[in-house]
Amino acid sequence: MLVESKQVAIIGGGPGGLTLATLLQKKGVAVTVYERDGDRTKRMQGGTLDLHTESGLAALAKAGLLDAFKANYRPGADKVRVVDKQTHILDDDHTKNVTTTFGDDYHRPEIDRGALRAILLDSLQPNTVVWDSHVISLESVGNRWKLLFQNGTTSVADLIIGADGANSKIRSFVTPIKPVYCGVTIVEGQVYDSARNAPQIHALLKGGKIMALGDSKTITISAKGDGSLDFYTGWKAAANWAKDSGIDFNDSQQVQAWFKSKYADWDTLWLELVEGASLPLIARPQYCMPLDQSWEAQSNITVIGDAAHVMPPYAGEGVNMAMLDALELSESLTSDQFVDIKLANAHYEKQMFVRFAEIGQETLDNTDWMHSPGGLEKLVNLFNPTE
Ligand SMILES: Cc1cc2nc3c(=O)[nH]c(=O)nc-3n(C[C@H](O)[C@H](O)[C@H](O)COP(=O)(O)OP(=O)(O)OC[C@H]3O[C@@H](n4cnc5c(N)ncnc54)[C@H](O)[C@@H]3O)c2cc1C
Repeated sequence: MLVESKQVAIIGGGPGGLTLATLLQKKGVAVTVYERDGDRTKRMQGGTLDLHTESGLAALAKAGLLDAFKANYRPGADKVRVVDKQTHILDDDHTKNVTTTFGDDYHRPEIDRGALRAILLDSLQPNTVVWDSHVISLESVGNRWKLLFQNGTTSVADLIIGADGANSKIRSFVTPIKPVYCGVTIVEGQVYDSARNAPQIHALLKGGKIMALGDSKTITISAKGDGSLDFYTGWKAAANWAKDSGIDFNDSQQVQAWFKSKYADWDTLWLELVEGASLPLIARPQYCMPLDQSWEAQSNITVIGDAAHVMPPYAGEGVNMAMLDALELSESLTSDQFVDIKLANAHYEKQMFVRFAEIGQETLDNTDWMHSPGGLEKLVNLFNPTE
């Protein structure tokens, strides 16, 4: 096996990095994950994640973790309500008599980010993850790498896999290609104990998801297993809107004033989001890697997940692509098919480029029409195809 006697360092313990770690470890590879979080108890921000049969779930199945997933996913959390700005429900999974199960093409069970991370962490050998290890740079030493951490420590590795997300430090050692602003900005927030702090929205949410569209704007809301909800607003804005607006997203009055003016003639129910949110809200201008990106493979470094192909969340593919990257890269690195690691990396990267060109296009298309006039009608029609 190409990586049999190699020290493999995965930078980032998100879904991509941890999936890769467990898949490689099962094949006997010596792997270490360096994660900037201080420990595993950090609460994971962000809505629930729906895993897809052909990608996220396929990776978990390969890692022998499907039963652990089934014990931890949240049945019913995938049920979506599509509503207009006045909260009229135009499409409702809760009233549809559709049931899917594991193995079906369109089965998309939801899991909390923290639960997914826990499953993956528990599958690893002790001390695989080195916490509080924020990589700030790399130095090339012969054919190996020296990793430099913010806490002043260093380490060495034969092969580095950057799984360090959208603002990857590792990516620049692989390619100079930069992400491009896609025209939409998100403001994300969380409401703890939503039954108490946002009761009307909690009732409308019914333990699932809400997609509210109108006036070329969106609000997406997910119920989480701990009784909180996660939401993000989206609309077309200049790339530097968040900075230029001068809004302090830690200031409740400023946040409420912004929301009231941005969602001016929306039902007052939506105000519960910003009145009940824990601050700060986070503004996230949405970037996407160029769909035609490619680079020449290297023998000792590559990237997976958002580090390889960050994209907006409007096709629900980010985590699934990260986990499929992990599956494909683990197969390449442990295959007998390649004479060296450079060829194994090249094989993985080629598949990843092709897949991203297609999924990234779908994602950018969705991002555009959902934030354009007629977006609501298009979404309702999409969920109700007429054959
Ligand atoms: C608002 C929002 C909603 C989303 N909704 C969905 C959805 O519904 N479905 C979906 O599939 N995707 C969704 N996504 C995208 C999804 O979250 C990502 O695609 C996915 O998490 C990527 O996984 P990853 O492992 O590549 O990176 P990440 O999940 O970003 O993990 C990266 C890890 O690396 C660590 N790290 C970062 N830098 C360093 C460093 N320098 N040194 C050490 N460690 C580092 C981080 O702490 C983190 O643990 C959404 C994203 C956003 C912003």
